[in-house]
Amino acid sequence: MKLKLALLLVLVLLAALGWTFVKRPLSVPKGMGPVLPPVASVDGVSCSVIAGADMKSQEGFSVRGGSLTKPLITGLVAFVVEHPQGRVLIDAGVARNVREHLETTPWLLRTLASLTVKQPTIDALTARGLAPDDLKAIVLTHSHWDHVSGLADLRDVPVWITPEELAHARSEDEGGKLYRQLEAESPLELRELTFADGAYGPFAASHDFFEDGSVVLVPMPGHTPGSVAVFVNLRSGQRILIIGDTSWTKEGVDWPAEKPWLARRMVDSDASGVRKQLVLLHQLQRANPDLTIVPAHDARVHAKLAAF
Ligand SMILES: [Zn+2]
Repeated sequence: MKLKLALLLVLVLLAALGWTFVKRPLSVPKGMGPVLPPVASVDGVSCSVIAGADMKSQEGFSVRGGSLTKPLITGLVAFVVEHPQGRVLIDAGVARNVREHLETTPWLLRTLASLTVKQPTIDALTARGLAPDDLKAIVLTHSHWDHVSGLADLRDVPVWITPEELAHARSEDEGGKLYRQLEAESPLELRELTFADGAYGPFAASHDFFEDGSVVLVPMPGHTPGSVAVFVNLRSGQRILIIGDTSWTKEGVDWPAEKPWLARRMVDSDASGVRKQLVLLHQLQRANPDLTIVPAHDARVHAKLAAF
């Protein structure tokens, strides 16, 4: 009898776990959704991608309702924004010793991740005849290991991070382990990222990085308390929005759908905050069809941008 009960319990738990992978798109209010200000077209602004490393995953582990058998490449990247006033990285990509950095992540992630290193950020810069000095700034979408790894080779470049994210990274949070390790090795050149530039579309506050509307940072708390998203208005008239890890896939915005429960548990600080952001991003995409929304890890979307 006891065995039967235990078996039943296991089956119920497995069914419950299975349910967390079933597609359940978030509900989106009807109506048009928020329109963005016109694209600020500034001469000499471009955005490209340094593809630092790949990790193999399955679609279904990245977005709720995705196929559990469909392979998905998780790209670990830095975005390079060129502007007449300077060159800025959005996230730091990976360091030369990214394999050691992977050791700071939870066991499950380490075990599942099959990491292929392609080009550490510093090597991508060097190959183009550039040095860390040629970077004006690094803006962090958030403080998790796969976004800060590259800082290890870019020590003197100013790093922009929100006070909320800095506090989170320096707390006991599991996701901030590598960040704390890097800071313990030697101090980073931190700059406080605050939002004093007024509304931008549906975002109540913003930070106009070059003060010409070309690169606009907005708060996007949820995945972490101090996550930010970055609008880049390109010379071509195209506008992109880098959303960090609010979603790992474009389906997360298109359907919209959150990460499956296991992934949320491991990486998202505030799951309900993430859901709100996903609904907003879905509405934003609907009202601004020309906007390219770029999850930090969706290699299929990265392929639509220029390679550095
Ligand atoms: Zn990430």
